[in-house]
Amino acid sequence: MEKLEWVNPKTVPDFVEKFGGFNDYPPNWRQVSEQELFQSGRMIFPPEYQDFRQMYRNGKEITAMVEATLYFFPDGTGYAIEKDHFNRCFKYYTFAVCEHKYGKDIGKKPYEHIYVCEKCGRRLELDTSDCHSYS
Ligand SMILES: [Zn+2]
Repeated sequence: MEKLEWVNPKTVPDFVEKFGGFNDYPPNWRQVSEQELFQSGRMIFPPEYQDFRQMYRNGKEITAMVEATLYFFPDGTGYAIEKDHFNRCFKYYTFAVCEHKYGKDIGKKPYEHIYVCEKCGRRLELDTSDCHSYS
């Protein structure tokens, strides 16, 4: 079980620099279909931060406002859901500091999976052993 706690984004190191502020779109913002979001793999793990934003600044460009809740993952990627009141539906978005492109698994043990992003060098390490089980 998780308990949400409000934190000021300005107090999280590099957060505003990487993802912008309340009126900014995060980097590589794009609308996706529900199916694309489902297949993106972004909803496998719980997000690290959640932020409600009213965004209209995309760099120097000013756009129509999108009101959405954003979910940020530790790897710099995320997704967002907009409740479109006018069209009475949800809209989905993804964003990322880097659209990671992971290479092949370089883990040495059967339960150890290590992938390195070819673009930014980020390491993704997964432990698929049962040592974290709650049972
Ligand atoms: Zn990357």
